[in-house]
Amino acid sequence: MKIVKLVLKFIVIIIGVLLIFIAIILLVDKQNTNYLKIENNEFVNNKSYLITNVNIIPMNQDTILVNKMVYIKDRIIQNIADNIEINGAEIIDAQNKYLTPGLIDMHVHIWDRYELGLYLSNGITAVRNLWGMPMHLRLKEDINNEEIFSPMFFTTGPKLTGPEFIGDDNLQLLNPNEGKEKVISYKNRGYDFIKTYYGLTEDIFDAIAKQAKISDMDIIAHPSQKVPYSYHFNPQIKSIEHAEEIIQQPLNYKLDTLKLKEVINDFVKSKHNSFSPTLTVYNNIYQMLIDDNILASEQLQLMNPLIKKVDSKAQFERWYNTKLRDSSIVKAIKNQHDFHLKIVNKLNEAGVSIICGTDAGIGITIPGFSIHQELAFYKDSGLSNYEVLKTATVNASKTHSIMNKMGTIEVGKVANLILVDNNPLLDLSALQKPTIVFIKGRKLNRETLDDFEKQAKNRKNLIASAIRYLENLIIEK
Ligand SMILES: [Zn+2]
Repeated sequence: MKIVKLVLKFIVIIIGVLLIFIAIILLVDKQNTNYLKIENNEFVNNKSYLITNVNIIPMNQDTILVNKMVYIKDRIIQNIADNIEINGAEIIDAQNKYLTPGLIDMHVHIWDRYELGLYLSNGITAVRNLWGMPMHLRLKEDINNEEIFSPMFFTTGPKLTGPEFIGDDNLQLLNPNEGKEKVISYKNRGYDFIKTYYGLTEDIFDAIAKQAKISDMDIIAHPSQKVPYSYHFNPQIKSIEHAEEIIQQPLNYKLDTLKLKEVINDFVKSKHNSFSPTLTVYNNIYQMLIDDNILASEQLQLMNPLIKKVDSKAQFERWYNTKLRDSSIVKAIKNQHDFHLKIVNKLNEAGVSIICGTDAGIGITIPGFSIHQELAFYKDSGLSNYEVLKTATVNASKTHSIMNKMGTIEVGKVANLILVDNNPLLDLSALQKPTIVFIKGRKLNRETLDDFEKQAKNRKNLIASAIRYLENLIIEK
């Protein structure tokens, strides 16, 4: 008996030490991102700002308001006028500069806090995280309590999948009741949206959609191949993701213009859905195919180390080996990307709301920086610069009622703004490296934003990231 007791005691000690070890690793990782802490940057608190001589691109109409003043206080745009008399505000002379709403990336995957600085540095003041885990609930709390600088943060729960196991952490639902229960539980725990994913069958999907309506949670759908594509025009589904899913599902892997017309007609009839094309993540397959050294590129230093070690590498090898077997894949992927441009063009022409989403944070799609590539692809597809900018501002904010306090420059809106040197309606590249980013009325200058990038480079939080992923597997299963 004595020996059993001794062994048990030993096991308890081992587990205890392990838990302490894990807690320390997570704490250290959090401490290392203290540069994002708002209290460490006291100079930005309790401040009001008066931006003078600025050209405003308000995004609620296709126009530029020339030489205006904008007054920001208590996180909100308080006034916009030719002349504003106010005492005590910091004055920012923005002569010849342009003010636009902060950008919104509607499809990201966040793995650590360093990424929040990368989004801000690229002018992104709101993100929609589409692979929710417990870590994101903690993150959301810290962001909403205004402890750290971050884009405004919205997250789905874990990805809901059908009965078939497809690897990863996907949450297999075996029957409609399980779907219903998950929606209720995600709502209670504080996730913002429901993400539906591969393999959901019609009966389970129906149960999710029904409960989502009752629980007042919008659904974001990565299309399920077990239901017709048109099933996703359910009014509870507010956005449909990925241009390639249109080709893989209703178009049956063919670049079929006639069939595309039918899909677009269905979109137009539905009226409820926004569409997030995520062209960058697909095009990155092509980039991997034409650059054998892409994993060693400087940009990849900004990727989360766990993703880099596991996902970026696996994706690269998979496509590299495919290319060795059949070199025609390079041309095929490029052709499909070109067809994606056509899809975006046709949907936009038909009046469907295109919302900018990059799928940043996985593979080789870099957080923050990718949005400029995504916007450039929309431009390639034939949208005007104004239409392109809409996808990452007003179109995005209109998709969900909980996001509609942003996306335009109007009195009463949240002061999420970017100040840039040149007119983005003439050249979208003006949006890169903004001079100043306002996040909820707090000013971040270029120097601070550059430092956010520097801090995220070659970060060493592989184990902390792995622990957070494992926590997700244990808690969400
Ligand atoms: Zn994604």
